Amino acid sequence: MRVRLWLPLILALVASPVAAAEPPCPLDIATCVARYQLMRERPWLGVAVDRDSLGAFHIVSVTPGAPAEAAGMKSGDVLQSISEKPPADWFAGRASWKAGDHSPIVVLRDGHERTLQMRDQVIPEDVLAKIIGTHIIEGHLAYMHHDPTSEQIENH
Ligand SMILES: [Zn+2]
Repeated sequence: MRVRLWLPLILALVASPVAAAEPPCPLDIATCVARYQLMRERPWLGVAVDRDSLGAFHIVSVTPGAPAEAAGMKSGDVLQSISEKPPADWFAGRASWKAGDHSPIVVLRDGHERTLQMRDQVIPEDVLAKIIGTHIIEGHLAYMHHDPTSEQIENH
């Protein structure tokens, strides 16, 4: 399984404890990494999204150099559709696409809908490795040091 190949790599990236910059991830590390693997099977957007109580996807940050940036996406945009499908479908991997094609992305910005064109491409491996490594450190390992449950386990 790919997960087994990734874990040693991620752990090798963990040189020293890092302050948490992400909220704790609710998934165990293996499940979480497996979920990141799915990014290889869909076009790379390059945004961090936050879902509100109504289920809308708000862009909270755009990765420099990512297709989302090239398409003109900005933090604060609310995703309306990707490739003419609801964003939730797209994030669940139910969009058809081909590398090199362009996908229309409709966002809501300042109360107006805008259609942006994103070039479909798979995430580069080094970028994916960095994203996973950072998330594992900030969303998982950073909290292990302060988790009283794990301290109890260590003491026994
Ligand atoms: Zn996680």
